[in-house]
Amino acid sequence: METTGAAAHGPDAPVIDLLQLYPRDMNIYGDWGNVLTLRKRLQLRGYEVRLHEYNPGDAFPAQVDLFVGGGGQDSGQNRIQSDLLSLAGRLKELAEDGVPMLAICGLYQLFGNFFKTGTGEVIKGIGLLNVDTVAGPTRLIGNTVIESSEFGTVIGYENHSGQTFLKEGAQPFGMVTKGEGNNGQDGTEGARYRNVVASYLHGSLLPKNPAMADFLIPGAVTRRHGSFDDTPLHVPYEAQARLDAAARPR
Ligand code: GLN
Repeated sequence: METTGAAAHGPDAPVIDLLQLYPRDMNIYGDWGNVLTLRKRLQLRGYEVRLHEYNPGDAFPAQVDLFVGGGGQDSGQNRIQSDLLSLAGRLKELAEDGVPMLAICGLYQLFGNFFKTGTGEVIKGIGLLNVDTVAGPTRLIGNTVIESSEFGTVIGYENHSGQTFLKEGAQPFGMVTKGEGNNGQDGTEGARYRNVVASYLHGSLLPKNPAMADFLIPGAVTRRHGSFDDTPLHVPYEAQARLDAAARPR
């Protein structure tokens, strides 16, 4: 495991421990941008970010305030399967306790019950979310826009063979207005549980949707440090970047 501390703030800066799950195997279509966005926005608010890159077999850090994990090919999902299953109890307990987590695409599928691939292989998930995923006949690919009752318009890019179906009690992240979403059939996209956001949207998601980062960050900060100063950040280019991204054809 690699751990890097940001030196942007003094030795007394409050710390947030951010863990990226499986960057070696699960980190495609710009998912690393989610880590960069969380780190930057935390630094702009005066926090020192300790970034933990967790790969199979690594020691699990004693303190984690925020989790992020990305998508991957079926082969990458296979490689992390047994390690992820060994973390199931811990991740579920932390999610239950309100720790914010962002799981994109391949990791979203494995936060669910299982992913049955196009070759019929079943990759087991941890069942943190009650969703099942089965590969469909064609990949669902393209720029995507969803409407979320909690977060408004969310912009991203999807590329997956798996079709995910929300089972009893599972809540969608949003409804697609452009693109295919969970399965190309029922209009839902992603899943939400406590402070867990799971979504097919790469893109990267957080640079295009800073409101999502600003949902994850307060939960992490409040849990670790007791309170959060929610004065909005002013980043001049982000509104235009969102408009440009939303206008992209599918
Ligand atoms: N391998 C999975 C699928 O094809 C996940 C893909 C991804 O993470 N983009 O559905």
